[in-house]
Amino acid sequence: MTTGRSVLIAGGGIGGLCAALCLARRGFDVTVLERSPEFGEIGAGLQLAPNATRVLRSLGLLDAVLEVGVLPDRLVLADVTTDEELTALDVTGFGEQFGGPYVVAHRSDVLSILLRACLADASVRLLTSKTVVRVVEPDAGTVRAECADGTSYDGDVLVGADGLRSTVRKLIDDSEPVFSGYVAYRGAVPTERVAARSDSRDVVAFIGHGRHFVQYPLRSGSFYNQVAVFRSARYLAGEPNWGTPEELETAFEPSSARIRTALSAIERGMSWPMYDREPLTRWVHGRSVLLGDAAHPMLQYLAQGACQAIQDADCLAYSLSGAVEAGRDVIDGFTEYQQHRMGPAQRTQQNARVWGDIWHTDGLAETLRNAYLRERDPNDLRHVAPFYALAETCSHSVRGGLSRAEPSPA
Ligand SMILES: Cc1cc2nc3c(=O)[nH]c(=O)nc-3n(C[C@H](O)[C@H](O)[C@H](O)COP(=O)(O)OP(=O)(O)OC[C@H]3O[C@@H](n4cnc5c(N)ncnc54)[C@H](O)[C@@H]3O)c2cc1C
Repeated sequence: MTTGRSVLIAGGGIGGLCAALCLARRGFDVTVLERSPEFGEIGAGLQLAPNATRVLRSLGLLDAVLEVGVLPDRLVLADVTTDEELTALDVTGFGEQFGGPYVVAHRSDVLSILLRACLADASVRLLTSKTVVRVVEPDAGTVRAECADGTSYDGDVLVGADGLRSTVRKLIDDSEPVFSGYVAYRGAVPTERVAARSDSRDVVAFIGHGRHFVQYPLRSGSFYNQVAVFRSARYLAGEPNWGTPEELETAFEPSSARIRTALSAIERGMSWPMYDREPLTRWVHGRSVLLGDAAHPMLQYLAQGACQAIQDADCLAYSLSGAVEAGRDVIDGFTEYQQHRMGPAQRTQQNARVWGDIWHTDGLAETLRNAYLRERDPNDLRHVAPFYALAETCSHSVRGGLSRAEPSPA
């Protein structure tokens, strides 16, 4: 039995760094093994819903995120061909309704805030250029991460936060990611390059058959995040050379003038084919456990992947510290973590697919969808409450009730 507090984390993305911090704040010694030569995120935006901002607040990081982020007024769905606003959700009251605000921020700003907090915490060791290639258990109470450069690291438990193509996940599952047939182009551009809605604090998704376009302001409105997503007809036809910038242009030809202008400013240097995976029946293998995209990669239509990873991090730290404080093996905490997080995270993963189908539908289904959206009460929270609800939170520090000692923010 190991009541030790030494944790290895494979992967230093948003999920891995947030887990490092949550665990360190609860008294664990953490080593993060990151594959890249430096910690970093791509130059695009990130929506952070109350289920994530509650955790960031409990870590004492929300103010820093708010400083570099934007508090949007509304989440809007509009028609990509006519610009007609179909429905909107007022998010300005989310702080009171769900215990945390809805924030949009630059990904690299969010990662830098997590990184700075990790660097300031003596219990977190951050190692880069460490690609975990194998996880073994050399004896009953130890897990070992072996890296591509020949080094290896021992701990009491290991967290696989190594993303969509997780190496740690292979301990449990040998399936491949599932390609949705959709490709994204994205990036943050100076606001003056995007005439459309540049004065707005809304997060807008312009939706339509086989494509959508998302816009929202970043960095006090000086930048605009833009995401263009389309179904690759060439991929579906089995042709080579799919998902190219030319195909992007063709996919958005039947779009409003506003969207065509916005599209001309979108980065074309890199594209992201959109993958998810089928839900797992367990996230635990021996002394290893999965978190974030390694556990439940999802399509981005609910803007919840990173939010769910942040929730995982909080819950995992809460559950592992509960096991250790009760004098039990630290891995006993895996069960509580999995019980609390697997259901909500996998429901979100599955709902994201449905949400995508609803956004991209055509014909009669599109007509019915638009009719429903036009009549929707803007204050109706039924569709989002399940993702943001406090009831889905396992940690008492984030929930508000204190049933056992909670860490204080730095
Ligand atoms: C277009 C798009 C828009 C999105 N928008 C949102 C949004 O608005 N809100 C939201 O909440 N989510 C959003 N998401 C989802 C979100 O980006 C992911 O869910 C989130 O980044 C997952 O974080 P993670 O830390 O689990 O994984 P990752 O961010 O993938 O991080 C994994 C880390 O592990 C490292 N790594 C990989 N393999 C190894 C290895 N073998 N050894 C060591 N290190 C390794 C990688 O280098 C990386 O740093 C979006 C996704 C897309 C594609």
